[in-house]
Amino acid sequence: MNKLNAPKGTKDIYSPEVEKWQYFEDRIRKYFRLFSYKEIRTPIFERSELFSRGIGNETEVVQKEMYTFEDKAGRSMTLRPENTASVVRSLIEHNLMNELFPHRFFYIGPMFRYDKPQQGRYRQFHQFGVEVFGDNSPYVDAEVIFSALDFLQTLNVTDIKLFINSVGCSDCRPGYLEKLTIEAKESREHFCNDCQRKIETNPLRIFDCKVESCITLADKLPNITDHLCEDCNSHYKEVKINLQLLGLDFTENKKLVRGLDYYTKTAFEITSSKLGAQNAILGGGRYNNLVKELGGQDLPGIGFSGGIERILLNMELPQKTDSKQLFIAYQSDEAKAEAFRLSNRLRQLGYRVYQDYSTKKIAKQLQKGIKINTDFTLILAEDELKNNEISIKNFETRKQITIKREDLETWLKKNC
Ligand SMILES: [Zn+2]
Ligand SMILES: [Zn+2]
Repeated sequence: MNKLNAPKGTKDIYSPEVEKWQYFEDRIRKYFRLFSYKEIRTPIFERSELFSRGIGNETEVVQKEMYTFEDKAGRSMTLRPENTASVVRSLIEHNLMNELFPHRFFYIGPMFRYDKPQQGRYRQFHQFGVEVFGDNSPYVDAEVIFSALDFLQTLNVTDIKLFINSVGCSDCRPGYLEKLTIEAKESREHFCNDCQRKIETNPLRIFDCKVESCITLADKLPNITDHLCEDCNSHYKEVKINLQLLGLDFTENKKLVRGLDYYTKTAFEITSSKLGAQNAILGGGRYNNLVKELGGQDLPGIGFSGGIERILLNMELPQKTDSKQLFIAYQSDEAKAEAFRLSNRLRQLGYRVYQDYSTKKIAKQLQKGIKINTDFTLILAEDELKNNEISIKNFETRKQITIKREDLETWLKKNC
């Protein structure tokens, strides 16, 4: 029989790695509550149109990376490549602007892109992110950026750097794009085929090209940040002032355009030097036209998403994040039954207890206790059973004590 493996670009997550995931997800839920975000869970597939309209037809994501399929009724569906478009779809569909307050959402979940798998980059990958709707204030931009950076810092994610830019708005971008098109056309034949097409259809996307020669050419093209309208300019200035107010270090990167069409004004990225060339671990920005473009009201929005696999590569699980592990060992059939009763009683009280049923040999049981990293082993041998006692062995110190059975719960309360 053929060996069945997980599809290329996907992976199974199990212990001890899965504990890191659980810890991280738990921290997301706790941290972003401080900023009044509420969780939102949207489907992992949507009608394809949502992403082509939302993300933009000429983006790398829509052009090359989407998992699109026809369902049995012949409708085109796509596994979500990102989550902002879905959150906006949900906001409009359920009229959440009127139904909920504040208009702040966070999410955690799998996304799908047909990309070349590499370190920290998968075809099924996971993102967490936040979205804030209805507030155009540059304070929100700075707060969202602050929360992203501060969250990573509280997790001791190392070697991180913040880059910011402004990508303009529907007032100033058309004029800039005209200039960009004219200049790009001058060296048109030196760009790759994709970029040659983008020059005609969506020249801003030239900056996303990963072809070395295109990157060099793009470096010499005009920057959008030098062609902002007054409104975008003053917004960008205030965002920077507010970031400084919060004591954040940032670097301006005029080539930062974030690969998705929906961004307006503020764009930002957090990178980690540990990950080599493609080193963004989190990115986001403002998207003031997206809600309207997807059929909703004229409503500003801003958010970010972080790549969980890439962040976890840069993060260590703290030494002790869980309660103490107990292991219960017994020596006879009678003790086995009593241990069985006791272990389930202790679980009801909230203790983590493991009991092995496969052998009466206490030495063999104790070996399993080592395997599950027990903190304390509770022992019910003949003497303990006869005297209504229980022995407790501390696995680290190797010290063993014997106490009365009725004192066990008090002892556990003190020591676990
Ligand atoms: Zn503008
Ligand atoms: Zn190119």
